[in-house]
Amino acid sequence: MEKIYDVIIVGAGPAGLSAGLYAARGKMSTLILEKEKIGGQIVTTEEVANYPGSVLNATGPSLVARMIEQCNEFGAVIEKDAINEVKLDGKIKELVGEKAIYRTKTVILASGVSPRLMNVPGEKEFTGKGVSYCATCDADFFTDLEIFVIGGGDSAVEEALHLTKFARKVTIVHRRDELRAAKSIQEKAFKHEKIDFIWCTTVKEIKGDGIVESVVFENLKTGEIMEHHADEEDGMVGVFVFIGYIPQTSLVKDILELDRTGYIKTDDNMKTSIAGVFVAGDCRVKSLRQVVTAVSDGAIAAIQAEKYIVDAFEE
Ligand code: NAP
Repeated sequence: MEKIYDVIIVGAGPAGLSAGLYAARGKMSTLILEKEKIGGQIVTTEEVANYPGSVLNATGPSLVARMIEQCNEFGAVIEKDAINEVKLDGKIKELVGEKAIYRTKTVILASGVSPRLMNVPGEKEFTGKGVSYCATCDADFFTDLEIFVIGGGDSAVEEALHLTKFARKVTIVHRRDELRAAKSIQEKAFKHEKIDFIWCTTVKEIKGDGIVESVVFENLKTGEIMEHHADEEDGMVGVFVFIGYIPQTSLVKDILELDRTGYIKTDDNMKTSIAGVFVAGDCRVKSLRQVVTAVSDGAIAAIQAEKYIVDAFEE
């Protein structure tokens, strides 16, 4: 007979790992499924300065490694599979993955977000060849080179600061004349000798031959087009894109209620309109998307899943 899990968690970012830890600690049979990289967006961040208790040398990857270890310790199983279809209306829910079909009493959706693309010519072609969405993963390739960071939010400015440890020069290109990032981060960037700014400007095209050799910018106020070529000695420039994120909710877009930007609506207990289906982390409607709120969501969802199982299956 096919196994029926107590809880299946879709997504192994901080929300999913926290849900896994709480569920497994509550002696529920717990499976965490992840289609891409375990750890979610936080593994793309080098410095995690605002997670309480996270002090010296706290990086995204190191924090996630400890979360995974903790999950394993309590018996949660983490597997790689992409779920393509969900059947959530029955008492036993079914998740159809690429590798298997999974059955479970409860589902916690913690599928997170993925980076928003600029959707300009050359962006896809040069991803991994000069265009990057992850400073932690790729900064090293740009040692002593010149980098453009696109965006004006916390991610863009924080990652620009991180990239200064590698690059010769970092230029933040923002579409307005004022950053969105928190003031404390802005101040560090404004003071940094390696960081420059280009305001009211977006990328129009990325060009090269195998690697990024030039970037075409458009000034949104004047309409001026400017093409920046890599120094001859460098041969290439880096383009790091941090212009926000898109919720990974297409799996349930016709099943659960989403807001107009695609985030899933839940109540304060992470419950959705379907009994036994919970949502945690960045993919739900919320006012603050941080590790600290993601892990809180995950814990609440797991405890609520446990309560639901007692009510629905054990009484
Ligand atoms: P964000 O806050 O949504 O900022 C996205 C930035 O990209 C904005 O400056 C936006 O410009 C710009 N942008 C959006 N679409 C664009 C486009 N098509 N072309 C050019 N620019 C575009 O995203 P984020 O910085 O990734 O942050 C996401 C969430 O994570 C936020 O809630 C943030 O506070 C949080 N976060 C927190 C920390 C931290 O606390 N340490 C670190 C990273 C992220 P406009 O300003 O003109 O809209």
